[in-house]
Amino acid sequence: MDKTANQAKHKKIGLMGGTFDPIHHGHLVTAEEARFQFNMDQVIFIPAGIPPHKSKKNVSHPSHRLEMTRLAVGSNPHFTVSDVEINRHGLSYAIDTVDLIREEYDGWEIYFITGADAVLEILTWKKVEELLQKCCFVAATRPGFRLESLGERLIKLHPAYSARIKTLEVPALAISSTDIRLRVQQGRPIKYLLPEAAEEYLYRHGLYK
Ligand code: ATP
Ligand code: MG
Repeated sequence: MDKTANQAKHKKIGLMGGTFDPIHHGHLVTAEEARFQFNMDQVIFIPAGIPPHKSKKNVSHPSHRLEMTRLAVGSNPHFTVSDVEINRHGLSYAIDTVDLIREEYDGWEIYFITGADAVLEILTWKKVEELLQKCCFVAATRPGFRLESLGERLIKLHPAYSARIKTLEVPALAISSTDIRLRVQQGRPIKYLLPEAAEEYLYRHGLYK
């Protein structure tokens, strides 16, 4: 085995999927904490194309969500953004994305980072057993979720793979994109809830009005 392939074996990559409409500090804190706790070399933010669980008409154009995400992660050298899901036609399933990333990052260990609420949804998705073979899950708590009960539910759902589902506590940040959109609509402040560059972008483009 050549040296580069050997090195790649010990590299870890985190995938942070989301609608990111808009991206906010809850997403960023979660990704950074997961990176630190699990020694990931890099975290890729992947804005969803057409989120299977959200109706298309209520979601901002992918180009806006992609650009806000790019602006938001720019200051972290460990963070990058991928447009794989946005450029794919049809629904975005985690398994398809993981397969694409595996091709690009051959030999890297893949961690799929999600909020505790989202992981329970994803684990009912297409080809979940295959997904759990190909990557580990990091389920981050967000306000309102009890870590212990999540663990119990995951073990019941996937007894054979529960070891591949890690839980992670992040500093509680009661921030959601839904709340940010509502605040913009109502003319209330969103300052400090998300990176300034993303805030400026969404105002400049008249999003969520
Ligand atoms: P919306 O309110 O539109 O659903 P959201 O704030 O939940 O938006 P998403 O883009 O749906 O953001 O979430 C992407 C991922 O980030 C999901 O895995 C979600 O669980 C997680 N996440 C969202 N907000 C937080 C937060 N405040 N703390 C930790 N994780 C979060
Ligand atoms: Mg959500």
